[in-house]
Amino acid sequence: MSDGLDAEDHASLSIATQRSIYVTPHPPVGLKNWGNTCYANAALQCLLSTALASALLDPRCFVVFRRYASNVKLLELQHQNNDPSDPNNDSNKHVIPPGVVRDGSGDATSVSTSSTKRSCKSKLRRKSEACQWLTDELVLLCQQYRAPTTSFFGTIEPVDPGPITRNVTRLSKCLQVGRQEDAHEFLRSLLGTLVMDGQNRKLSALFDGLLESAVTCCTCGHSSLTRDRYMDLSLEIDSPDCKDLLGALRLFTRTETLSKDNLVDCEQCGCRRQVTKGLRLATAPTILVLHL
Ligand SMILES: [Zn+2]
Repeated sequence: MSDGLDAEDHASLSIATQRSIYVTPHPPVGLKNWGNTCYANAALQCLLSTALASALLDPRCFVVFRRYASNVKLLELQHQNNDPSDPNNDSNKHVIPPGVVRDGSGDATSVSTSSTKRSCKSKLRRKSEACQWLTDELVLLCQQYRAPTTSFFGTIEPVDPGPITRNVTRLSKCLQVGRQEDAHEFLRSLLGTLVMDGQNRKLSALFDGLLESAVTCCTCGHSSLTRDRYMDLSLEIDSPDCKDLLGALRLFTRTETLSKDNLVDCEQCGCRRQVTKGLRLATAPTILVLHL
């Protein structure tokens, strides 16, 4: 098809359009405050206005979102690493299963003990339970948010995020119920619980991106690249050079020179040198979370 979508994509889009889940048919709805939960409500209100709500309400939307994400290569790598037992995956010849390390002779040596295996299983089970609880609560919240009830006087009633905002300790031990917390920390804890550190592949696909950092020696030109996954970016907006969001992203990715007290060891020169350092968004997620 000319638009690059297959029949399954079109079916998903058609269903999504019929159910009007791509657009919120009313202004954003208010969320009930249970005492010092405005930080959580602010983050939830942002999240409920993204494609996540559509994805949670109709899982068939995932295939469409995935198609439009630019992080396909990242997800392929993740897929290979998460399926080391797949006999049909040729790349698994080079994938070492979790819990196995290689010694100096190149032989694989298992270092897992039964207690560490039990500990890993127990940790994974707790993560899965927290993820399932949060997913169920978010689905209920999305349904209320997309179709809120109206009062006798015709005003829209606020929806209740209490099952989440009154149980923030299930997201992170650093968050406390009833205490004013940081909205960014809450959002990161919520997303971390939802994607299970990348193990929940479908939801990770919505938020995961790859950040590339390049450091280049000003003397010999030697470059080193490091890549890190990100689920959100913190942007500076108090610079006079920053006038809008694009300006903030340009500042974030601009190349800077490290000199004087910030010299960096160059492998090729064998000493500390002046270098340039630049960040690049190697892949962007379907939902880009920006912290301003
Ligand atoms: Zn050098």
